[in-house]
Amino acid sequence: MSKTTLKIAALAGDGIGPEIVREAIKVLRAVEKKQGLSLEIVEAPIGWAAIDQEGKALPDSTVALCKKSEAILLGAVGLHYRDAEMPKEKRPERAALLQLRKQFGLFAQLRPVKLAASLAHASPLRPERLEKGVDVLVVRESAGGDYYAYPRKTDEVIEVKEDGSTAHRVRRAIDTTALSASEIERIAHVGFRAAWLRRKRITSVDKANVLETSILWREVVTEISGQYPDVTLEHMLVDTAALQMVLRPWHFDVVLCGNMMGDILGDVAAALVGSLGTLPSASLGTLRHGRTFGLYQPAGGSAPDIAGKNVANPVAQILSAAMMLRYSFGSDPAAKAIEAAVEKVLAAGYRTPDIAGPGEPGIKPVSTSQMGDAIAAAIR
Ligand code: NAD
Repeated sequence: MSKTTLKIAALAGDGIGPEIVREAIKVLRAVEKKQGLSLEIVEAPIGWAAIDQEGKALPDSTVALCKKSEAILLGAVGLHYRDAEMPKEKRPERAALLQLRKQFGLFAQLRPVKLAASLAHASPLRPERLEKGVDVLVVRESAGGDYYAYPRKTDEVIEVKEDGSTAHRVRRAIDTTALSASEIERIAHVGFRAAWLRRKRITSVDKANVLETSILWREVVTEISGQYPDVTLEHMLVDTAALQMVLRPWHFDVVLCGNMMGDILGDVAAALVGSLGTLPSASLGTLRHGRTFGLYQPAGGSAPDIAGKNVANPVAQILSAAMMLRYSFGSDPAAKAIEAAVEKVLAAGYRTPDIAGPGEPGIKPVSTSQMGDAIAAAIR
């Protein structure tokens, strides 16, 4: 049987991006061989690297490559020490990342947070809160809601003091939150499908005691749940969810939320494991070329403080590549092979500096490339 070639655009970007993307490609090549896949990986510039080469954070040639591809594996973009060189709208965070999200309609962000047993020391939680593990997937609506709706503006209004004595002008800011039922439906389907592949539990987060958008959210999510009878749904207010995630992290499987709530809860979940260097993410869109198009990248940024030193942790990037195999290419076995190799290498004590616990016995301090080598070897 002839193999289907999976087309990947690899955009390394800035800071530690090139170092960690290199290791992810190394691991992808190992899993390609082992699992009998065929991967076409083409690299292209993005971010400050692209500005230096082609004068633009997202060159047309890079967009053209992404359009021909079925998934994007991205390192990171942005170098805050260069911000003064460009107006905000031309800097990589907006001109490249937001542009890609818009161009490819990436409306669902997935952030899995799993604490490897061997990295329990990196978590800020007490050991008894970790006994039952941490394995949460935050599914966040990332194209609508709080961050994109209009009107949004800052103006001035006349304010009258409570005693009515004086009136003066004060600045006022307005944001809008708007979500349509169809926007809620499509993200709910992503959440329920993800839960179905996992432990079949979903916690839908909202603020339905206060916000209109949350009341609609709760109604629509409940309606959609009827299509997934195997998945157990619970609703939770966002403040309770933040509290419970810290007190009882084991309670959560998939956490489904709107844009701003997901932004915050994604970071609460990330804090549970202690290091950004191990956390992957995916931004999913609709079908392209018959597959779910996605952009896969670490939860962290370009980490300029450690760039070029061969000390960055490549695990987040490598696990992002595993998510790509699972969600865009439907290859759960290949994704699991990478995840198992990462767990094995961490359990064997391999540590980049960010996850090396003080005084942890029997660890093997490694560089970025040595960590990539070890994970690739664990796959072979
Ligand atoms: P950051 O995530 O880059 O770094 C925060 C801290 O985490 C740093 O101490 C860094 O060394 C550490 N860290 C991050 N990834 C690591 C890894 N793989 N291994 C070991 N340590 C790691 O956040 P920042 O410093 O606030 O931002 C730096 C730049 O990255 C900014 O220009 C920002 O705009 C950009 N950024 C980009 C993205 C993205 O491309 N998606 C996301 C966040 C920030």
